[in-house]
Amino acid sequence: MDNNRSAEREEMVKRQIEARGVKNPSVLQAMKTVPRHLFVPASYSREAYQDYPLPIGNSQTISQPYIVAVMTELLSPEKEDRVLEIGAGSGYQAAVLAACGAMVISIERIPEVADLAIENLARAGTSNVQVLCLDGTMGYPEKAPYDGILITAGTPGIPEILLEELADGGRLVAPVGDRNIQALVRVTRNGDEYHTERHGAVRFVPLIGMYGWNNEE
Ligand code: SAH
Repeated sequence: MDNNRSAEREEMVKRQIEARGVKNPSVLQAMKTVPRHLFVPASYSREAYQDYPLPIGNSQTISQPYIVAVMTELLSPEKEDRVLEIGAGSGYQAAVLAACGAMVISIERIPEVADLAIENLARAGTSNVQVLCLDGTMGYPEKAPYDGILITAGTPGIPEILLEELADGGRLVAPVGDRNIQALVRVTRNGDEYHTERHGAVRFVPLIGMYGWNNEE
C-alpha cells in the first residue's frame, strides 16, 4: 500500500500538468511532493488527485491541480522569496509555494476556513507558511515588499495597495474579470513601471472585501 499516495501524484503531474505544458522543475517537484489528499475533506479523499476543483466547505473550493501549477509557474517563486497569497482556502496552494522554497504569508477572510488551512498545513508538516485571518484586498504592509503576490479568488481589478507592496522585480498573479469568469493576469514590477500580461481563462470563487466584490452582490 502506498499510504503517502506518491504514485497518484506522479500520475497527476505527468498527465494533467506536464502534458499541458508546465515546465518549471521546482513547480513540478512541489506538485509531486505536497500531499494534496491532506488538503481535501475526508469525504473527497478518493478524488484528491483528479483533474477538477473540490468543495472545502463554506462555499469555497480547492483549485484544480493544473491551475495551481500554472499560477505557481507564472509567479515563479525562487528560494527564500517572500510571497503573499490572498485566499488561503485549504492551504494547498500555500503548501506548494512553500515546497518551492518560498516564505509564505497566506490571508483568508473566513475564520473557519483560516482554521482549516492552519490545520491542513500542520497535518501535512508544512513549515514556512503563516496564515492570517484578514481582508486581503487591503494588503499586508507589515511584511511588504513581496517578491510574489498571488490572488486565488476572482477579482474585478487588482487592488492598488497590492501593486504598491510588490518588490522591484516582483510578480503578481491574479484571476481578473467578472464574478463568473476571469483571465489569469500577471503583473511584473520594474521600478515604477508595471508590465501586464494576460493568460488563459479561469473560474474562481469571488474575492470579497473592501477592494474586491461586495458580499451582497
Ligand atoms: N488557494 C486556495 C483556494 C482559494 S479559494 C487553495 O489552495 O485551496 C478562495 C479563497 O479566498 C476562499 O477561501 C475565500 O474565503 C478567500 N477570500 C475571498 N475574499 C478574500 C479576501 N478579501 N481576503 C482573504 N481571503 C479571501
